[in-house]
Amino acid sequence: MIPFNEARQKVLSEAKALPIEPCPLSDLSGRILAQDVASTFDIPPRDNSAMDGFAVRHADMAGASSDSPVILEIIEDVPAGTIARRAVGAGQATRIMTGAQMPEGADCVVPVELTETGIRKTEVRIRNGVQLGEHVRKRGEDVRAGEVLIKKGTRLRPQEAGLIASLGMTGVLVSRKPIVGMLSSGNEIVDPGNPLGPGQIYDANRYSVAAQARSVNAEVKDYGIVEDDLAKITATLERAAAECDLVLTSGGVSVGDYDLMKQALSKLGEMNFWQVAQKPGKPMAFGFTNGKPVVGLPGNPVSSMVIFEQYVRPLLLKMQGAGTILREQLTAVSDQEIIKPAGRMEFMRAAVEWRDGRYHARLAGPQGSGILTSMVRADGFVILPEEAVHVMPGDAVTVELF
Ligand code: AMP
Ligand code: MG
Repeated sequence: MIPFNEARQKVLSEAKALPIEPCPLSDLSGRILAQDVASTFDIPPRDNSAMDGFAVRHADMAGASSDSPVILEIIEDVPAGTIARRAVGAGQATRIMTGAQMPEGADCVVPVELTETGIRKTEVRIRNGVQLGEHVRKRGEDVRAGEVLIKKGTRLRPQEAGLIASLGMTGVLVSRKPIVGMLSSGNEIVDPGNPLGPGQIYDANRYSVAAQARSVNAEVKDYGIVEDDLAKITATLERAAAECDLVLTSGGVSVGDYDLMKQALSKLGEMNFWQVAQKPGKPMAFGFTNGKPVVGLPGNPVSSMVIFEQYVRPLLLKMQGAGTILREQLTAVSDQEIIKPAGRMEFMRAAVEWRDGRYHARLAGPQGSGILTSMVRADGFVILPEEAVHVMPGDAVTVELF
């Protein structure tokens, strides 16, 4: 058996960068940025008002009180999107709306709630002044021209899309979406929608793993369920390798397996059939067909998802140039005793919740590698090292949320 870290390192070291392409604003979410994004101008571009109110000179409000309000002459109205034509002089005020550029001469804004205007609306009374500069958004307080705001390799979220739009850009360069081919094998596997014969089960992996792949931007090409026929498996693998950036197969890679997946994979290129010191997912295959990476996932539905999470997800993110490819790990308190023997790193499905200021983890049910319901009840993995471990209730454990 090879250690988990060594196997993952081998897979990740083979990541080839995908080409980059322009991406419009509307499609940015989740994509991996392939350039630094900097602003060519300050945001805000000029000082502007943070409130609806009156732009005034701070010096004019000295001594304003409820007994002796300051009275200023209103010289102009400046709604957002228009520019003041006049400078505010001593004893004067300009009515201003949120976001409008500050007029010359004014150095603070008195919110409308703190003012009274007479019937003629040519005068404003101020009983309580504001601080110098108060309610003014300063030029460049958000963004400085030339500043790099989003780094190459960032996975773009909605707020990055918003900022890129604020810079006036119509799109940015991102990594192309990886095209991932997915096929299931096994004569017992039936596609949902068809009746089950004796000894048959429905295909889960082509849907769970495809969804995992889409969550890291993959465009999934479905090659269906391929029956255990060497010529058919070989032909499908060759076609997938020609059409995709990465191929995922399900089933038929374990020891003593008479499935033809192993034979087909070996025949088509350099393939490693690893026994990795991990649970679940001990048997897995990794190699190349026509220069394209191929990951042979074990057929057990939880194993295939774990191998995707731990190997394929970071591989696809690395191919897209992501700066961060592994999930964050956190520490949780185990709410139960867990005993594991030495030998394999274990990814145990766990329900994780925040309680009394800490994360708490509890196993999400039976841990058999075919038991998908405990995956459904889980929020993440408790990851236990290769050594023998005896976790007592209250002990700290490492958790990865998915
Ligand atoms: P294998 O890796 O082919 O030896 O399969 C291991 C177990 O996973 C067997 O019980 C298979 O029936 C089951 N299995 C294989 N492929 C799938 C699939 N696509 N969906 C659900 N279960 C599967
Ligand atoms: Mg099989």
